[in-house]
This record gives sequence, C-alpha cells and structure tokens, in this order.
Amino acid sequence: VKHIGVLTSGGDAPGMNACLRAVVRMAIYRGIQVSGILRGYAGLLAGEMRAMDVGSVGDIIHRGGTVLRTARCKEFFEPENQALAAGKLKDAGIDALVVIGGDGSFRGAQALMRHGIRIVGIPGTIDNDIPGTDYTIGFDTAVNTVLDAINKIRDTATSHDRTNVIEVMGRRAGHIALLAGLGGGAESILVPEVPFDLDEVCARLLRGHDRGKLHSIILVAEGAGSAVEIGKRIEEKTGLETRVTILGHIQRGGNPTATDRIWASRMGAQAVEALLRGQSNIMLGVRKGELVEENLDKALTERNGLDEPLYRLAGVLSI
Ligand code: ADP
Repeated sequence: VKHIGVLTSGGDAPGMNACLRAVVRMAIYRGIQVSGILRGYAGLLAGEMRAMDVGSVGDIIHRGGTVLRTARCKEFFEPENQALAAGKLKDAGIDALVVIGGDGSFRGAQALMRHGIRIVGIPGTIDNDIPGTDYTIGFDTAVNTVLDAINKIRDTATSHDRTNVIEVMGRRAGHIALLAGLGGGAESILVPEVPFDLDEVCARLLRGHDRGKLHSIILVAEGAGSAVEIGKRIEEKTGLETRVTILGHIQRGGNPTATDRIWASRMGAQAVEALLRGQSNIMLGVRKGELVEENLDKALTERNGLDEPLYRLAGVLSI
C-alpha cells in the first residue's frame, strides 16, 4: 500500500473530521500518500479527489459535519458504476480505501473490494445502529445534544406543569432515545425495538402526576411512531397538557464530545495501520471498551440489538 484514499459517506456525524484528520496524519507519519475523495461515492464517480497534506486537516478536530462532505448516491448501486469507481481509484494509483460511514456505505465498499480495492470501514453515524460494534462515531455527541435539550425542556416543563413528548432520531434503532432517556430521567422511552402500550404510558404519567410530579418527559425514537400523534393521544387519554418537541437535525450537528474525538482519532489511525499490515475487508469497532478489527462480511450480518438490561433499568428508575 503506497497511496490510500479516504471518504465519508451516508449521514454525517460529529467526529468524522477528527477521524479524517487521524487517517491523513497517520498516513503521512507512515510515509504513504493519502487522497481525500469528496462527497462519498458520488464524488468518487465524478473523480473529485484531492491530495491531502498535514495542513489540509488542520483546525477541524473540533468541528461537526465532514469537510470532505458526504452524499447518498443511487448510481453507485449499479454494478457498472462500481467498476467505473474502482477504475477511478486505480487510475489515481489508489489501491486502498478508508470508508467512514454507515452500513450502507460499507456495502458500497464491498462492491469496490470485488474490483480489487482494499477496504477498511470506520463506523460513523449518530444512530449507533451499525452491526459489529457497540459504538459509532457521533453517537456520544448526539446523546449529549439530546440531554442538553431535555434539561432545557425540563426547566420550562416544571414551571408549567406539563407533559413533554420529545422525538429523537432513530428510524431503525432506539439507542439515542435509550441513553438520553436514561441519562435525562425520562418517564417513558419509546423505541422501535420494543412494542409499547400507550395506556400503560398514560397510567404511568397519571401515577406520577397524582404523586405530585410537576412534569414528565417521554422520549420517542422516530421509528417508534410520530411524537405529534403520540402527544395528541396522551393528552386525550390523560387530560394532561402535553407539548411536543421534534429535535430533528440539531442532533446531527455540534462540536464532537471528547469521547467521539478520541475514538475517531484512534479508529482513523488504526485504519491506516491495518492497511499497512495488509488487512482488507475489515471494519473497526468497539467491543467491551476495546478497539477491535472485525471481518466486514461477518460484521454486516450481525444483529445490533438494544441494550435490554439498560432498557429495563430505565423503566425501573422512572417508576
Ligand atoms: P449509511 O452509510 O449511513 O448507512 P446509506 O445507506 O444511505 O447510508 O448508504 C450510503 C451510500 O452507500 C448510498 O447512497 C450508496 O451510494 C451506497 N450503498 C448503500 N448500500 C449499497 C449497496 N448495497 N451496494 C452498493 N452501494 C451501496
């Protein structure tokens, strides 16, 4: 491996820049060339790449988003375009690629691998929904952003004696809702992985209210249902004044937390080391607090379930 490429793909996540910085700086430290590909697979198909030097990743470790920008690219699902993209890399002398993104991006990377490109995947998404790892870059920042919002909503909720339904990101997975709900003391946490009974949610609310609780927070992962609908039905069923907040894209932005920056830096550096060792078809991940290299094919078939004991604990503590 003499020349590696790096791209960010799929949804952006805070910490991707810190990861990119680590890939570029470790490559330079180890004496290999490194090129940044803009706008994920869309930019690769369009041949948008630039040589990266030490200064090209200066002053970005603390910034959200990705300076390489990112894209979703329908054309890349076509086998002929995958061959074309691999050709662009080979023409540039790039024989190995670091892909920072979600599992969709890793499936795209597998297509490039079939054309002889070495691949290391780095999990980057706020949702933490990538199989094969306990943690993804951006998740910690997103959870902290939601916590910050809960704190603010609590202040006003207490003053007005209101129930607040807060919708957070997570179409397929309730990880953000669970961690932010546990950390933020939510009364109920509704996630796509666990069926819920709205009557039970309401009974819990009324019990709290009768006990003299001044406010309640219900966290809803978007995949569990619409917060607007759920809020309406709670108000109808309980008669408690209910407000709905949809946090939306503020969860995707912001300066990465220390946790995200540190894992992103470690993973970026490790990706280069792994390629230099001759590795390919791997994804970096975190298991039991350790940085691990997982076989990519195997990782993508694993299940990434909700932390069930943690979910039960959140339920017990919010009685
Ligand atoms: P994420 O990487 O965050 O899961 P997506 O699922 O949107 O995001 O995937 C990002 C991009 O990766 C897609 O727009 C597409 O270009 C490429 N991709 C996703 N799945 C595949 C696949 N099965 N085969 C080839 N390319 C894919």
